[in-house]
Amino acid sequence: MISPEKIWSSDQLPTLPAVAVKLLDLSKNPDTDISEVIETIKTDPAITAKILKASNSSLFGLRSNCKGIERAVPLLGTMVVTSLALSFSLSESAINEGPLKVRFDSYWKQSIIQSAAAELLASRLGNELKHDSFLVGLLQDIGHLAMLRSIPEDLVPVLEQAETHERECAEVESEVLGVNHCEVGVKMMERWELPEPFKTAIEHHHDSCEQLKALTTHPNFNLIISIATSSAIGDYFCSTNSGLALNRLKELTLEFFNMPNEELNEFLEQVQSRFEEAAQVFSVNLDDIGSPHEIMATANEQLLKLTMKAQVDSNQASARQAVVEEQKIKLESENKQLQSKAIHDPLTKVYNRSYFNEAFEKELYHCARFARPIGIIFSDIDRFKQLNDTYGHQFGDLVLQRIAKVASESTRRSDVFCRYGGEEFVILANNPSENGIRELSERLRTLIENEVIEFEGKRVPATASLGAVVGIPPRDITGYAERLIAESDQAMYESKEKGRNQVQVRSIISKDDQELQQLVKRSRFSRWLVTKKIFDIPTISKALLKCPQEEKRAKIGKLAIAEKLLTDLQVTKILDLQKESGKRFGDAAIQLNLLTQQQVSYLLALQIEPPIALGKTLITLELLESAHTTELIKQFLLEMKPSLNPAEGQHCGVS
Ligand code: GH3
Ligand code: MG
Ligand code: MG
Repeated sequence: MISPEKIWSSDQLPTLPAVAVKLLDLSKNPDTDISEVIETIKTDPAITAKILKASNSSLFGLRSNCKGIERAVPLLGTMVVTSLALSFSLSESAINEGPLKVRFDSYWKQSIIQSAAAELLASRLGNELKHDSFLVGLLQDIGHLAMLRSIPEDLVPVLEQAETHERECAEVESEVLGVNHCEVGVKMMERWELPEPFKTAIEHHHDSCEQLKALTTHPNFNLIISIATSSAIGDYFCSTNSGLALNRLKELTLEFFNMPNEELNEFLEQVQSRFEEAAQVFSVNLDDIGSPHEIMATANEQLLKLTMKAQVDSNQASARQAVVEEQKIKLESENKQLQSKAIHDPLTKVYNRSYFNEAFEKELYHCARFARPIGIIFSDIDRFKQLNDTYGHQFGDLVLQRIAKVASESTRRSDVFCRYGGEEFVILANNPSENGIRELSERLRTLIENEVIEFEGKRVPATASLGAVVGIPPRDITGYAERLIAESDQAMYESKEKGRNQVQVRSIISKDDQELQQLVKRSRFSRWLVTKKIFDIPTISKALLKCPQEEKRAKIGKLAIAEKLLTDLQVTKILDLQKESGKRFGDAAIQLNLLTQQQVSYLLALQIEPPIALGKTLITLELLESAHTTELIKQFLLEMKPSLNPAEGQHCGVS
């Protein structure tokens, strides 16, 4: 990338001589007297001589031989004379005897070819554009001239790069320099205050066919397409990428000039004889430009190579893509298999012990944070050794598979069913109550008992003994997992001792926690809705299942502040004590006498079951109307909120 300032601050930029500037001014005014034009030209003897020579050349085809500028100017017209004056100035700017002579020469040759081509193309669209298009054709690459003069060391490598890679030069210029010669050309037009249509045509002269099609309604559309197509002709004759140019040329002439590709050669011959005439006027030698036939042969050869290269590239790319896709799919499936293997038991296909440990720990943290109950069930097949001994190890395996299948299929998705080892299974129950976990254990026990497993056509009874435990983990969960496992294991042994094929349930929830749980339960919006007979339990349970997850819920301290039960300062105090003691927020708040147990349970209820979230779910399920929901929430908060702070010496109860 270069800074555009490097171009615009250069003192090497092409300039217009005074005579050209004056002529341009005059040509803009329709009332200009022709004698004024003649007088202006005469101030520059070199330009006068050149215009006179041009007027007698075949380029203009004037029948009479002009001896003096006074005769030539009225015959040529102000526009043509101005164009010529401008063109001669440009031709001066393009003279360079330095190391870049070849670049300057070829710039100027191409400009002449483009002007002749633009003029011929425009005349196919009507005569009024002839002169403008000749001049703009000549000016269109002025950006290249400006860049060659101001930033040759930046531009030349870019042009070389475009040539070797057979790419559009304007494209590579933008990519490497951050500016292309079309943009620089537009700026030059602005500097020289040349007419707006010139600017527009130069701006678009390297546009693609598609881009040009979008300009159909532009007032200068005919000039734009004449110039763009002339640039393709210039590239065709002069650039080393004649194949690329031919492609664009075919597309543009067919689309905008109604010229079938078969007629293109003939048209190019016309262009050639026209630019040879122009070359004489500008004293340029175009002998090194090949004939249209020769160029066409080279261009076609290049096109063929380009097409083949594109084909090979795209074939290779799609082949590579296919391999990559295939590898990706294979790796993904291998990964899935590995992951699945890592967490499943190969014999029974249920989760393995390591998965259980992970899930158990996660659930413990979660329950500790929200002071929620956690529960596990231990299950051990009865007299399994005997089964093995009687019917063989293989039959034992079958029993394990069948029991695992029937039991795991009957648990909820949110429960985690695992093979803990040998003939022991463990279930991590989601959000259990003591009664809930008892029911689940009993259901599993019955299912196992009722499963019909046969050996050689004869039913072999299989039963299991189960032990379950529920607890609410403290904030510091160290040792709590082991405690739950030990308790459930002991409960399971109790079942064995009491005669097997039965269930024992233990709760290790402390009295205080139990009380709090009860209070929280009573403070929940769902419970309130049931008490008020707005919904029955099954309906509200369904809605609760659809309610958003708890992870996203508010921190209890924030809730307390929002509910105006605590101040910021009080929350900070509680958090400090919490850090120190490892207590739960509510317990710390109660210890500091900042909240009552009722207030804590009210806040916990709001946290576990935000009334607005449940309300929204009820509205979504079309169980409640929006206005009614708002009303109910208001009423609920009014009734349930334990308003006064214990620090103020008063106690408040929940209904
Ligand atoms: P209890 O009612 O007291 O639980 O008696 P039990 O026989 O079931 O208990 P014990 O722990 O004495 O025996 C468990 C047996 O389970 C011993 C072991 O060989 C068998 N076992 C453990 N893993 C597998 C297995 O993958 N496949 C089979 N077939 N047997 C297994
Ligand atoms: Mg055992
Ligand atoms: Mg056993």
